[in-house]
Amino acid sequence: MGVIDRSMRRTAEAAATAGAVLTVDLVALAANYRTLAALAGTAACAAVVKADAYGLGAERIAPVLAAAGCRRFFVAQVGEGVALRDILGPGPAIAVLNGAPPGGEAACHTHALTPVLNEAGQLRAWQALARRVGRALPAILQIDSGMARFGFPVGEATALLDDPAGFEGLALHLVMSHLACADEPAHPANAGQRAAFAAIRRRLPQVPASLSASSGIFLGEEFHFDMVRPGAALYGINPRPGCPNPMRPVVRLRARVVQMRDAAAGTAVGYGHAAELRRDSRLATVAIGYADGFPRSTVGGEAWCEGHRLPQVGRVSMDSLVLDATDLPPGTLAPGDLVDIIGPDRPVDAVAASADTIGYEILTGLGHRFHRTYSAA
Ligand SMILES: *Cc1c(COP(=O)(O)O)cnc(C)c1O
Repeated sequence: MGVIDRSMRRTAEAAATAGAVLTVDLVALAANYRTLAALAGTAACAAVVKADAYGLGAERIAPVLAAAGCRRFFVAQVGEGVALRDILGPGPAIAVLNGAPPGGEAACHTHALTPVLNEAGQLRAWQALARRVGRALPAILQIDSGMARFGFPVGEATALLDDPAGFEGLALHLVMSHLACADEPAHPANAGQRAAFAAIRRRLPQVPASLSASSGIFLGEEFHFDMVRPGAALYGINPRPGCPNPMRPVVRLRARVVQMRDAAAGTAVGYGHAAELRRDSRLATVAIGYADGFPRSTVGGEAWCEGHRLPQVGRVSMDSLVLDATDLPPGTLAPGDLVDIIGPDRPVDAVAASADTIGYEILTGLGHRFHRTYSAA
């Protein structure tokens, strides 16, 4: 048997035996990119693929986005950028949001990554490298328009702009900032940050500007500037919490039933005996737990099977959780079957809400024990 046969057999084996199966819909991913690009109008639509494309696998995600027309990618760290450069080849622009750590500038340069310059030390180190290589280096200037996380505070940025040598040795490709409250459209900080950013941007009229990530795109055209930078919305997370999700779901996560049992009213279930059955029940134990990134803090979780809701019973274990299958028609579910943990009836945002977190944390926390499949783009 050849290498390919063997690897195909192993894939089939993994699909048949894995405790849970994660399916990433690359068609929906490309559609989401096009939706966001259309919303952005004349602004360019970049893609944020940090944290291994929000846990979904940059190696499979990034080429699909590139094929959908994306020419600019953002990662958080230099190492992610190096990996992404290997995946995408020399064409697309790759920016590193955290910038280069001290001493990491040469790696950035070697792999044609553009650092986001967040503070004076990063700026000076990148200028020093430009002097050493004897030519202007591409750079992105980040302004802190009101989040106190990354970027030059407005006062510092103004001083830099007033200094004739402030950007010496740099080819500024972009000036950017990031919104703290974009998922709350009525939050007054949005207009405040926009105004602070616009004021700095007026001092650099020839440099393209970018303010909005996923949610900011939905705040209106005046938040788009020249480029938008969605991440979450590409992957199906709702960029407008509390409103119908305009994005297509990208992730489906199904867990396998290990065991079915009948248990009498009064039976205590799981660690800490945290749940006690109020009626005679039929329980399904499924092979997904907090080691797979399904949060132990989940309260009132549920899975779905053929349109039926299966409420979670008791605590999430490391490798399993227990579902109440009492209301399923008999014979619907048997060991080996798969139930939806994330799926058409249970969006990732709902899974997150029952663990008191956000879809971002659920996706980026997804474990490596799943069998992963990608639907063709
Ligand atoms: C993560 C990140 C994004 C993408 O944000 P989403 O909310 O996932 O769209 C864009 N810009 C910056 C600076 C980020 O850190």
